[in-house]
Amino acid sequence: MRKQTVVVALGGNAILQPGQKGTFEEQYGNVHRTVEQLAAMVLSGKWRLVITHGNGPQVGNILRQHDAAKAIVPPMPMDVCGAESQGLIGYMIQQAFHNVLSREGRGDIPVATVVTQVLVDKADPAFQNPTKPVGAFYSAEEAKRLQAEKGWHMVEDAGRGWRRVVPSPDPKAIVEREAIRTLLTNKAIVVASGGGGIPVIEESGQLKGVEAVIDKDLAGERLAEDVGADLFLILTDVDRVRLNYKRPGEKVLERMTIAEAKGYATEGHFAKGSMEPKVRATVRFIEAGGERAVIASLAQALEALEGRAGTQVVP
Ligand code: ADP
Ligand code: MG
Repeated sequence: MRKQTVVVALGGNAILQPGQKGTFEEQYGNVHRTVEQLAAMVLSGKWRLVITHGNGPQVGNILRQHDAAKAIVPPMPMDVCGAESQGLIGYMIQQAFHNVLSREGRGDIPVATVVTQVLVDKADPAFQNPTKPVGAFYSAEEAKRLQAEKGWHMVEDAGRGWRRVVPSPDPKAIVEREAIRTLLTNKAIVVASGGGGIPVIEESGQLKGVEAVIDKDLAGERLAEDVGADLFLILTDVDRVRLNYKRPGEKVLERMTIAEAKGYATEGHFAKGSMEPKVRATVRFIEAGGERAVIASLAQALEALEGRAGTQVVP
């Protein structure tokens, strides 16, 4: 049987759990547990794996480090911080795979991380309306200064302080898609488009990084299309999508068609910035010709892949 290609999008909890500080040991421990799940897919012999992941807490900390050390070392722009986070997380995933697969006598399976740029449209309306909070919290005074000095857009975040917000443009294309396909063809497990990818724009044929954050599930979907994936699996911290989430009349969805998904989205069942982009990404994948997409919890990854857990999104 031909192996099927699955793109797996890992949520924040795969790398850092709520309440943890974010030490290397904590993060590697979480990644190792996540990779045990993913390795089961590879070892089943049925799946070829492309992995993408979030980077919110990691890139947030990198931005803070650059900011705190700016008197000593020139701070890097956001796109470079994104690249740093892809390296940091890719390293942990590669090492965990090596360690888990070696234990099973399959340390020969190659694993590679591709530092991934994702093309966005410089005319994307998102650039006129920054919405995605990033990095540290600041006092009202500091926020005012940063707004004046750097032209950052600052917003008050639920009483916790002021934060920078950046645009969240739509992913148009994975710049490294050919390199990723080549690795896949050569039986590698590939980690790509981490944190939604490094957003770049094209000007007269030249690429340039921009200060923005692409939604990692929408970028994962773009990646899934670009590698011709059979399946798109979004792993997060809830077991299934729900209607009336945390409200009276809550209903768990084991399966929904894309027509149903669009209807529920219009009715406002999926929270913006969390479940809404995930559902939108699965709908896009099916509309682009994908067979099946799944939103499930990390703990049920293999069952979800086999159709026995999670919310299955179908044509
Ligand atoms: P991740 O970091 O794993 O990518 P998010 O935290 O952004 O994911 O989104 C997952 C969260 O979405 C869940 O923890 C849940 O609280 C929230 N959520 C919002 N609306 C729904 C819904 N309708 N059904 C299930 N979960 C929902
Ligand atoms: Mg989360």
